[in-house]
Amino acid sequence: MARKNGAVTVARMDCMSPDCGERVAVFQNALGYLYTRCPECACDQRKGAGHQAYIWRHMEPVAGVEIVRPPNLPDGYGEPGQPPQSAPPVPAEPIGTVPTVQSEKRGGGLVWLALGLLGVGVATVASAAGAGSQV
Ligand SMILES: [Zn+2]
Repeated sequence: MARKNGAVTVARMDCMSPDCGERVAVFQNALGYLYTRCPECACDQRKGAGHQAYIWRHMEPVAGVEIVRPPNLPDGYGEPGQPPQSAPPVPAEPIGTVPTVQSEKRGGGLVWLALGLLGVGVATVASAAGAGSQV
């Protein structure tokens, strides 16, 4: 009789339960998600990206078996059983800080410019008035 369950062991890895210590089989479902089956901890079919990535970089592929990349495997993960090639790029500088400071300075400068023009105007009027009274 042919097996109804077509699951093929694609890799093996240490059980993800920290104190379990079992060696577990890694399978892949029809959608490409990896899952494990531990004799002690039962089946673990979590599909979260972090969980899939953990299996991907910890599993040891079985020779001759094709493994598909899980659909939600984060960027940077190369071959199975390997850590990610490079960490995702981190923005070099916080966005918004520098433009905010510049706009505040610009706004303050305009205020001081206005006050300065006002002061010059007052001084001009005052000196003109003084000159006029002298005559
Ligand atoms: Zn286990």
